[in-house]
Amino acid sequence: MGESTERIAEEEKMQRRQAYIDASRCDGASDCPPRDNCPAGAIFREGDEGPYFVGPECRGCGRCISFCNLKAITLL
Ligand code: SF4
Repeated sequence: MGESTERIAEEEKMQRRQAYIDASRCDGASDCPPRDNCPAGAIFREGDEGPYFVGPECRGCGRCISFCNLKAITLL
C-alpha cells in the first residue's frame, strides 16, 4: 500500500470515529478546555448546566481527550 493510500485509509478511519463524553464523569463546568480546543466545535450542552455532549460535527481527531482533566471522553 502506498503512502498516500495509507494516509487516506487513516483519514477514513478517523472519520468513522466519534468522541463520547461519559455524563457521569463530566462535571459540566462552564470552563471546558475540551470544548474550547475542539477544532470542529462539536462539544456543547443545552443551556448553562449539565454535562457536555458531542455532536455529529465530531471528526474523531481525539484532541479533546488530552484536554479533559476528568477523563470523561473516549473515542468510539
Ligand atoms: S474528537 Fe476531535 S472533533 Fe471530536 S469532539 Fe474531540 S476534539 Fe472535537
